[in-house]
Amino acid sequence: MRKTRFAVAAMAAAAALTLSACGGGSDGGSTSEGEAEKVRIGIKFDQPGLGFKDGDTYTGFDVEVAKYVANELGYKEDQLEFVESPSANRENMLSTGQVDMIFATYSITDERKEQVSFAGPYFIAGQDLLVPTDSDIGGPEDLEGKKLCSVTGSTSAQKIKDKYPGVELVEQPGYAECVTVMAGGQIDAVTTDDIILAGLAAQPSNAGKFKVVGNTFSEERYGVGLPKDNDTCEDVNAAITKMIEEGAWEEALDTSLEGADFSYNEEVNPPEPDACS
Ligand code: GLU
Repeated sequence: MRKTRFAVAAMAAAAALTLSACGGGSDGGSTSEGEAEKVRIGIKFDQPGLGFKDGDTYTGFDVEVAKYVANELGYKEDQLEFVESPSANRENMLSTGQVDMIFATYSITDERKEQVSFAGPYFIAGQDLLVPTDSDIGGPEDLEGKKLCSVTGSTSAQKIKDKYPGVELVEQPGYAECVTVMAGGQIDAVTTDDIILAGLAAQPSNAGKFKVVGNTFSEERYGVGLPKDNDTCEDVNAAITKMIEEGAWEEALDTSLEGADFSYNEEVNPPEPDACS
């Protein structure tokens, strides 16, 4: 049972943290036979700047936060196994034990909390629009009768269905696909969180083609998705707080989004993690 081993590893890590005060080291994630256990971390593979897979290399802010947190839980980098977690599959992947934790631009919502738990938030984004550079769309109220692309299972698509029913919503499995459709001229705009759109717009293949409108219309609090019954939430929150205090959070954000036209909302970032329930 991998889930159980994860829980045991986290407990070992917590014990090791306590011991480290008197000189003990952390061997988190190893079994009694000394064989390294993996922790399976759900990320996006197609969101440059956030969660991106290029061959065997994983980059982005979510990946950096995941590595930092896993390290604090006692896992070494070679014990991390990154698994693709598309927006529509996240609750299922956590509740069926396919992954141990998710760092994937995953907004904390009450609806999702019925199926999974969250540590964090570790970042606060806002829903925005990506449009062709010459477009005069200035916000969601300009989308009446227009074609808008978003992703199945995201809060971004749900918001449009709930608040802007006059918009013709096209759903894709990922935001990169939405951008490809827009590059082909079949849709007028793409919607999701500003930071995701900025990362996509900064891709060399998209250079000069699109702009982020810069008029956010939601608050997306990025949490670390955990299975409902977990004993790691407190440790994950402690790791997030440490990452922010040490300056590693700011550095990860700067390096991951380097070259993107993006600055985070300083009024709400860096956030303070919620109490674990
Ligand atoms: N943060 C939003 C969500 O969790 C949109 C981004 C995404 O689909 O990952 O649904």
